Amino acid sequence: DLALRSAKQRGKNRVELYEVGYDQELRRRTTLEHELRGAIDRDELHLQFQPVVMLPSVRPVGAEALLRWNHPELGSVRPDEFIPVAEECGMIEKLDRWVLHQACHQLSRWLGEGHDVWVSVNVSPRELHRACYVEQVKEALRAHRVPPQRLVLEVTEHAVATDLDEMIRQLRGVRETGVRIALDDFGAGYSSLGQLRDLPIDILKIDHSLVLEERMMPVIVELGHQFGLEVIAEGIEEQHQMTMVVKTGCRLGQGYLAGRPVLAEHFEARLQSLAPVIPNSRQPERQIN
Ligand code: C2E
Ligand code: MG
Ligand code: MG
Ligand code: MG
Repeated sequence: DLALRSAKQRGKNRVELYEVGYDQELRRRTTLEHELRGAIDRDELHLQFQPVVMLPSVRPVGAEALLRWNHPELGSVRPDEFIPVAEECGMIEKLDRWVLHQACHQLSRWLGEGHDVWVSVNVSPRELHRACYVEQVKEALRAHRVPPQRLVLEVTEHAVATDLDEMIRQLRGVRETGVRIALDDFGAGYSSLGQLRDLPIDILKIDHSLVLEERMMPVIVELGHQFGLEVIAEGIEEQHQMTMVVKTGCRLGQGYLAGRPVLAEHFEARLQSLAPVIPNSRQPERQIN
């Protein structure tokens, strides 16, 4: 009897614990939602850039722009946490537009300095469904004088899963502007090979989880190439992974090993360290006797 009672009590406690946890989660969401509304105006957002490198070197050919939020009290909040909140409370349009403009601004500066580089931004599935999205992209390109082929828009496969035909229509429209489309996180969820065949995309980003699959990687990379796509292996953290990826014939990679996401000025420093040295200005030309 006593044992039963204590078990019941424990059960009850567990329910209470659960409710407390749920309550806390709800409160956190409400706080995030509320704080996120003012984040742009309070200047709490910034972008980091993670290099996409030519393999097997670590020479950056492009960069993915990743959104960062530093709140004075909440500290730094991860995009995995606040992006879904923004999507649910209708804030994502504003955020993604801000990101698009910031990214184009940076890109335009780098191109102006003569760097051969592209920048990608992540696009929320909700964005693509908006009729005026294409106009928004064109406007950003115009405002910052960025050639469209220097901008890449990353869409995830779960965006595609809902309505493939609609997605194809949307992507065609965006692609007509000349920007390139990357399918992000391929292999992480519900991707089907049919999508690779049907979607008007230019780049295939193979998800970290698939990059670890030593027997599948060569097949997926080859498939991507067969479809005329550039293939990027994501989430390369260790040398042995890099070696394996290179063996598959994959030409582009991204991950902590080649470079973590960093501030624009740090990425720029990396670009500068690769810039060709102009003869005469820096090094006296050697006389040939
Ligand atoms: P994603 O687009 O797949 O971005 C790659 C994520 O993987 C980034 O996390 C990056 O820091 C992380 N990563 C890169 N290399 C490695 C590695 O070697 N190992 C591991 N473990 N992780 C690596 P982050 O920045 O936290 O972004 C998470 C997700 O949030 C992104 O996934 C993207 O879906 C979303 N996100 C980020 N910025 C934006 C944005 O501006 N707009 C939208 N709509 N979504 C964004
Ligand atoms: Mg991405
Ligand atoms: Mg990704
Ligand atoms: Mg991801």
